[in-house]
Amino acid sequence: MTLANSHLSNSSRTYDVVVVGGGNAGLCAAISARQAGASVLLLEQAPRALRGGSTRHARNLRVKCDPPSVLPDQAYCGDEYWADLAQATAGHTDENLARLMIEGSAHIVRWMEQCGIQFEKSRIGNRPSRKTAFLLGGGKALLNAYYRKAERIGVDIAYDTEVLSVPLDHGVACEIHAISNCALTRVRTRAVVVSCGGSQANTDWLQHYWGDAANRFVIRGARQAKGRVLASLLDQNVVPIGEPGQCHMVAVDARAPKFDGGIVTRLDCVPYSVVVDRNGQRFHDEGEEVGPRRFAVWGKLVARCPDQIAYAILDSKAEGLFRPSFYPPIRTQTISELAVELKLNPADLATTIHAFNAAITDASDRKAGRLARAEDIVPPKSKWAMSIDTPPFSGYPLRPGVTFSYLGVKVDDHARVIMASGRPAANVFAAGQIMLANILASGYLAGVGMTLGTVFGQIAGRCAVRAARSWSPR
Ligand SMILES: Cc1cc2nc3c(=O)[nH]c(=O)nc-3n(C[C@H](O)[C@H](O)[C@H](O)COP(=O)(O)OP(=O)(O)OC[C@H]3O[C@@H](n4cnc5c(N)ncnc54)[C@H](O)[C@@H]3O)c2cc1C
Repeated sequence: MTLANSHLSNSSRTYDVVVVGGGNAGLCAAISARQAGASVLLLEQAPRALRGGSTRHARNLRVKCDPPSVLPDQAYCGDEYWADLAQATAGHTDENLARLMIEGSAHIVRWMEQCGIQFEKSRIGNRPSRKTAFLLGGGKALLNAYYRKAERIGVDIAYDTEVLSVPLDHGVACEIHAISNCALTRVRTRAVVVSCGGSQANTDWLQHYWGDAANRFVIRGARQAKGRVLASLLDQNVVPIGEPGQCHMVAVDARAPKFDGGIVTRLDCVPYSVVVDRNGQRFHDEGEEVGPRRFAVWGKLVARCPDQIAYAILDSKAEGLFRPSFYPPIRTQTISELAVELKLNPADLATTIHAFNAAITDASDRKAGRLARAEDIVPPKSKWAMSIDTPPFSGYPLRPGVTFSYLGVKVDDHARVIMASGRPAANVFAAGQIMLANILASGYLAGVGMTLGTVFGQIAGRCAVRAARSWSPR
């Protein structure tokens, strides 16, 4: 049931479980807790139309899949999953929790389907990707299905309700402080699941680590990810995890909106281009990364550029080599016109392009493609060094686009948050982005964010019910 905000303010009810944040992790927790027989209230800061945080933009989950449920050549076994995760994080992961997630992932697709979520299937009925399951209709469709399910089974939901803090008394939470309907509200509870995402949309926080540069970052997900509840927990001796200020970033089109641009603003053109900073100077080998890491590598590089802006320059030979962009490129017939359009110094850009063209040692036409190199230049270009000489010329402005922040709370295998004493909190659990760094403290592996929220959302929901049942008021 959707609660009117006035109802929440006047309610003296004590819920078994209150879930803070209604994205993927929160919904999995709320549904699991309700299915275990608890009374559940979900508090969501956003209005109904914008509910669901970063989950709205997600496309896939990474799931373990063993024969006989799939043919042997389509299997993705636990050890391979673990090896991928260990490599992506360079070992910055808790193996016990990671293996718990990996084993749990084998069962989530069926559970999700029972909640009404549908997956993309190839024409012969199997998954289009061996390692990940793609959501039919993306994250928005997933959220709609979960919210429908939650309402149907009796989870109470309050939108437009921002949780300010979860006061702890020796690791025990009895109430939650929120602002709802412009009024301060206290909600009483026997257990809490904190699942309100990351803190990447908190520019003040980012500024602390990145200085003025943080003002020019684009946030790819929701503006609600301010880390307010995270800050409240850390202030009360909950153990942090993940490096403060560190974020996963990709290079996005600088014309993207400040928040919520999602995946379509990511640019795929870099390996086929020459990338210059605002002074018209190249600063990194554009051909170095052509695999899945290429997006993240360039997010960080652009974040370190003057004014956090860079420009990818291409000519007509590159057309059709990369995924089309959401915004059309800026196109001109000459390099100096392109420089003017991009507000670069024409002479500086022309010098850079001329030097680059002169440094290409291999055949640099489109057919030679991947193997072409530019060597006698700093920095060199190790792949796709095609000369920029055939009009029309194209340019894309690039900015760092933050996907998520790593800082979160440490949890145990029951999803309980860990206190500075080393003991778990009695009735406070965390799931999703807010505890991602337990498993992914650096790097990224496609589909892990959603899998983690689903598996740990379920664990947190079930364990919160057990905690609520053994709860006695202090
Ligand atoms: C563009 C983009 C694409 C992505 N693609 C993928 C993908 O394909 N696969 C994948 O695995 N991961 C992907 N991710 C990451 C993935 O979206 C996240 O890991 C995941 O959605 C996090 O889920 P969550 O429930 O923890 O947080 P969120 O989905 O962010 O939900 C948090 C919720 O809490 C609410 N909230 C926040 N603060 C408060 C508060 N104080 N009080 C009350 N409510 C609050 C928010 O409104 C929101 O509804 C992507 C992320 C982005 C930005």
